[in-house]
Amino acid sequence: MPGYTPPLRDMHFVLHELLQVESEFAQLPVHAELDRDTINQVLEEGGKFAAGVLFPLNQVGDREGCRFDVETHAVTAPTGFKDAYRQYVDAGWPSLSCDPEFGGQGLPVTLNNGFYEMLNSANQAWTMYPGLSHGAYECLHAHGTPEQQALYLPKLVAGEWTGTMCLTESHCGTDLGLLKTKAVPQSDGSYRLTGSKIFISAGEHDLAANIVHLVLARLPDAPEGTKGISLFVVPKFLPDANGNPGERNPIFCGAIEHKMGIHGNATCQINLDGATGWIIGEPNRGLNAMFVMMNAARLGVGMQSLGLTEVAYQNAVAYARDRIQGRSLTGPKDPGKPADSIIVHPDVRRMLLTARAYAEGGRAFTSYVALMIDRELNHPDEAQRREAADEVALLTPIVKAFLTDNAWIACSEALQVYGGHGYIAEWGMEQYLRDSRINMIYEGTNTIQSLDLLGRKVLMDNGAKLRKFGETIKAFIDEHGTAEKMAEFITPLADIADKMSKLSMEIGMKAFMNRDEVGAAAVPYLRVAGHLVFSWLFARMAKIALDNEAGGDTFYKAKLATARFYFARLLPETAMLIRQARSGAARLMAMDEALF
Ligand SMILES: Cc1cc2nc3c(=O)[nH]c(=O)nc-3n(C[C@H](O)[C@H](O)[C@H](O)COP(=O)(O)OP(=O)(O)OC[C@H]3O[C@@H](n4cnc5c(N)ncnc54)[C@H](O)[C@@H]3O)c2cc1C
Repeated sequence: MPGYTPPLRDMHFVLHELLQVESEFAQLPVHAELDRDTINQVLEEGGKFAAGVLFPLNQVGDREGCRFDVETHAVTAPTGFKDAYRQYVDAGWPSLSCDPEFGGQGLPVTLNNGFYEMLNSANQAWTMYPGLSHGAYECLHAHGTPEQQALYLPKLVAGEWTGTMCLTESHCGTDLGLLKTKAVPQSDGSYRLTGSKIFISAGEHDLAANIVHLVLARLPDAPEGTKGISLFVVPKFLPDANGNPGERNPIFCGAIEHKMGIHGNATCQINLDGATGWIIGEPNRGLNAMFVMMNAARLGVGMQSLGLTEVAYQNAVAYARDRIQGRSLTGPKDPGKPADSIIVHPDVRRMLLTARAYAEGGRAFTSYVALMIDRELNHPDEAQRREAADEVALLTPIVKAFLTDNAWIACSEALQVYGGHGYIAEWGMEQYLRDSRINMIYEGTNTIQSLDLLGRKVLMDNGAKLRKFGETIKAFIDEHGTAEKMAEFITPLADIADKMSKLSMEIGMKAFMNRDEVGAAAVPYLRVAGHLVFSWLFARMAKIALDNEAGGDTFYKAKLATARFYFARLLPETAMLIRQARSGAARLMAMDEALF
């Protein structure tokens, strides 16, 4: 049986010492009153819910999966999921960072983010139900009409209703321009939707009274491709005059998928059989509106992977302390026992530290991006809001792809620490590995994130966003570059920053001649970018740890050890990645298709 302890100490470190959120929030009028104690209290309570209520359901959900009734189209979530959801709603958790105008508590995204890390560590499959609802809330909040907002937002904020995002169809996932679902305008201003969606997470279940589907579809006169896609809100039950669930809308679950992981979350085929919906935003601008939800979801997927990295790490450490096998290469460490704990072996430590560094780096990274979102949403100065928005745009694909790739590595290393027992279901480690795999695929595969980063976010604006972010890093290097104690962190940071900017320029030049160069370089390029962010954050964390080391708190000693491990053992993969990114398109395109 695995265990989970919310990593509150490290969360406090990231929020209060690294990011100094209290003084950041003081600049945002809506959060100006928020103090450290309140922040910590929310996280503590959130951690209790995650560890106490959700975590015990994680293996149950994996074993049982969801059940589909072909006669009624009903889906039943695994044992305990519904009750946990009721507790979640009763405690007011869905409303944490939502707009007070619609019943929300108006707390920062940064705080919600920390809460979601713990939910995901405890139970990713369960967390997807409220996670998607929050995305639907954000989309309607940004693009819904006042009537739609008044009708749907209070229900989503309260958690009474949940949400979905219905994009994918059997013939199109990445290329949404191919989608076929039709929406025909009706005389009363509504639309009649017909078509079939697949892979819709939380598409049907028994947790809530209604499900608010956000559906991409095409109007009859829509242009081909992505410029002809509109977005619709299609509730499972049509709201009656009082805004309560009324007549059943013909949007039905046709089947649920049997899949590798996240068994507790229903992945549904959703058939729209003349379902009634209402357009959100402008006709043919649906993808634009949906991007609000997709961006939120991309960060959300990063949080899923951070959650899994943390819980896999915690369990691997506990096992490595407990399991005795062989003797330390430098002589017995525990002569009273027949063998030493496996934590004495250098390579076991490498595996543990890899997972730990990915968890700590990921926590710092996602908290930083969440803070930038709070700035983007609430800073009184428009220039600051715009700058923060640019940074969020640049960093979002990196959070999604880098953290999800890292989680796959971390969960695999954590499983390896268990030896053969890691492969056995009851220990829980193989579930983490299986659950983590989907995060690299949905919300735009990691290849698509890489193309977004290199093609759209870097090359399309001639590197302006990246340069701006580079200036932030350079300011840190300039400030601490002469401190002798910081040299071991600043030198590799300055080196990777320099290489990143040269690599960007080189690929940009090649891309002028051949666009395949972007596709060929994008995946290793994103990973280098991820390491640039991690190097910057680990250097900053190391600075704080060095400043506090003398006080004797072992937390800082551990932080320094992790940072040193990161620079010594993980960052060096950038040498290989840069060579791969520079190797060009020719090596990939030379093979004739017929020769594969
Ligand atoms: C468990 C699960 C839950 C999901 N939940 C949802 C949901 O809630 N809502 C929803 O709408 N969808 C959902 N999806 C769908 C998911 O977002 C898609 O599977 C994903 O976007 C990839 O689309 P695809 O499967 O059609 O693969 P394809 O688009 O066919 O891609 C196949 C491969 O080709 C690559 N590829 C495609 N195009 C390019 C390109 N231009 N350049 C380079 N490489 C390319 C891809 O990276 C991938 O490796 C879910 C999927 C799963 C499995």
